[in-house]
Amino acid sequence: MQILVINAGSSSMKYQLIETDDKTVLAKGLAERIGIAGSRVKHQFTKNGTTGEKIVEQNLPDHNVAFEIITQLLTDKENAVIASPEAITAVGHRIVHGGEKFSETQVITPEVKDTIRALIPLAPLHNPANLIGVEAAEKFFPNAVQVAVFDTAFHQTLPEHVFRYAIPEKFYTEDKIRVYGFHGTSHKYVYNEAKKYLKNDKLKAITIHLGNGSSMTAVDENGNSIDTSLGFGPLCGLVMGTRSGDIDPSVIFHMIEELDMPLEKIKNVLNKESGMLGLAGSSDARDVAARYYEGDRNAELTFEMYGYRIRKYIGAYMAALNGVDALIFTAGLGENSVLTRSYACKNLNGLGIELDEQLNIEKNHADAPVEIQTANSKVKILIVPTNEEWQIAKEVSELVKQS
Ligand code: ADP
Repeated sequence: MQILVINAGSSSMKYQLIETDDKTVLAKGLAERIGIAGSRVKHQFTKNGTTGEKIVEQNLPDHNVAFEIITQLLTDKENAVIASPEAITAVGHRIVHGGEKFSETQVITPEVKDTIRALIPLAPLHNPANLIGVEAAEKFFPNAVQVAVFDTAFHQTLPEHVFRYAIPEKFYTEDKIRVYGFHGTSHKYVYNEAKKYLKNDKLKAITIHLGNGSSMTAVDENGNSIDTSLGFGPLCGLVMGTRSGDIDPSVIFHMIEELDMPLEKIKNVLNKESGMLGLAGSSDARDVAARYYEGDRNAELTFEMYGYRIRKYIGAYMAALNGVDALIFTAGLGENSVLTRSYACKNLNGLGIELDEQLNIEKNHADAPVEIQTANSKVKILIVPTNEEWQIAKEVSELVKQS
């Protein structure tokens, strides 16, 4: 089955065309600067075992035009990976917020779209852009089944004492303020990959997704998310590329009352100017690591803080799970940053967690699950490359087969 996976942002759209029968990526790409000058589509394809790339620099006033270019690229005479758009059975859309309504992948009906729209106040940046992607895909691939895969769905198993905040009940019942959690597709994918790799059907794991945005999840022996570090929104928990992670809310009141900062400025500081960027001047761990090796104290402090926050959550989630079998590192830094994993596992031997520093270096950039703990470590430490697009394609194809 050929599934087109779409991740639509307000001015960009990532796509992958996946053949689910043999798990191959036929083509993938990125349409960027949609609605802005200088827009383009960067397209990569694989045909008869060879890969190629094409860049189309063209005005993309909206997502419909982006789909038009993408369809041309997929069916283009020279490098076609499919004969016509009708070859695509289903389009899988990454939808950021499914609220409490969606704990499973859904075929998109007018009611599902209405619900995604009704959830816009909970995800004002993402859900509108995701919906634009859905509506453009409906126009362009009218024969394909449109399916929504929600980032929040995996965390709908959180127990009430975990997902509620200790504030008056009305804020939950009337205003829907609770922990939702994000990156669910990635946490679920790497957990299942680790379960297969370790041949452990009752795996208790802590999944550690470290990208530009980062989160950790405690997954119990039944594969249920029972706690996660992002909450109502994407700002709490770990130190991230540009986001602060956990911060005492009193700091915000102080910024308003004593520093006279307007709310928009505070939002900007905490979302876009904090984390690694605020501490070390770059949101990219590669830059910060380069400065670390030159002996820069800010870069060192950044890794100390970044790693320490992860260790705190490891401790918390070991308590939540009553012990753990495996730590699973994934995404940009989890898969590629030796320093991050080293700081994240430092001084945890009292908890039975011991990283093998040599394996940590040797197995960096792994393209399949690998183990990096010492022989003495009671807890396995794994690097598992994430593949959210594949997880989406898999869920979409399973749903289409059932319906
Ligand atoms: P996103 O959250 O945007 O999907 P990714 O999972 O791709 O992000 O992670 C991006 C981040 O991963 C980069 O900003 C960078 O900090 C980090 N990263 C990627 N490659 C490396 C590397 N080789 N070494 C250290 N960090 C890396």
